[in-house]
Amino acid sequence: MSQQRPVLELENVSVAYDSDKGPVQAVNRVNLTLYPEEIVGLVGESGSGKSTLAYAIMRLLKGSAYLAEGTIRVMGQNVYNLSKKELRQFRWSQMAMVFQSAMSALNPVMTVEEQIIDTLRTHRRDMSLSQARKRAEELLNLVSIDLKHLRSFPHQLSGGMRQRVVIAIAIALDPAFVIMDEPTTALDVVVQRSILDQIQEIQRYVHFAILFISHDFSLVAELASRVAIMYAGRLVEVTNSGRLQLLENHHPYTEGLLRAIPKLTADEVTIEGIPGYPPDLVDLPTGCAFHPRCPRVFADCMTDRPELYQIEDGLVECHLFKGAKEVHYV
Ligand code: SF4
Repeated sequence: MSQQRPVLELENVSVAYDSDKGPVQAVNRVNLTLYPEEIVGLVGESGSGKSTLAYAIMRLLKGSAYLAEGTIRVMGQNVYNLSKKELRQFRWSQMAMVFQSAMSALNPVMTVEEQIIDTLRTHRRDMSLSQARKRAEELLNLVSIDLKHLRSFPHQLSGGMRQRVVIAIAIALDPAFVIMDEPTTALDVVVQRSILDQIQEIQRYVHFAILFISHDFSLVAELASRVAIMYAGRLVEVTNSGRLQLLENHHPYTEGLLRAIPKLTADEVTIEGIPGYPPDLVDLPTGCAFHPRCPRVFADCMTDRPELYQIEDGLVECHLFKGAKEVHYV
């Protein structure tokens, strides 16, 4: 593991909110570290807690959701100890987020140039208008958008171009890391591929770390160096993406996700899905939350919550790994 100072540290992070049916633990004691220039994928089904965790990191939790437990540090700074004014400066300059929908992230009545300049000058008060204009041009070049679109409004751009503009704004102030929350979900496969290539290329120049959130396991395995798998609010496995070539010796949920990836080169394709549905977070199964769907379930799984075990340089939360070194976070 890297000896560099982490850009993001999550220690026992839990997020809860109130619902009509009762209190919900949407994120449950998550521990994860992101190092400079690293791409970590965060994968899981809808409702597994991925986006809630992202909003907690950005201190953007809405409604009744709140950080119930744990610490979130960005560049060593506890995000929840910042005043509102400090937080406004901290966001975008240290941490930024690319949301799922580019259209709702952009202001429909401002041109691309105005939006980039607005972000720059709100955070860098010493930046002159001509410096901000020059930076806006650099950023559009970086995301491969013709400079003639500086004067375009969001509705005049294609979906892929809009998402590139959002990425340009996210990296405008050189943040240490960017959370990308399903940034290509609404795009067709060809545009999706070109944006992913672009993200990798930009990252080689600009050197920020990425927490890449997706429900598309194959995409994340290709893009990220490490992958964290979430189920029912918990991180059930963290692994190097290289280990995902192996279909075994993982958490059974990870193995199910791996078996569900279609192989284009195979003559005949039988896709094995994971039976059942994710659990209701208000009424989680006892023991291991995955036990009603697990093909390898045994008696202990139904009563005892599994510990976290170290396997090679990854972590897995499953009784099958009893005997491996246990990992405990204080
Ligand atoms: Fe399956 Fe048991 Fe492991 Fe849970 S703890 S994933 S039920 S084997």
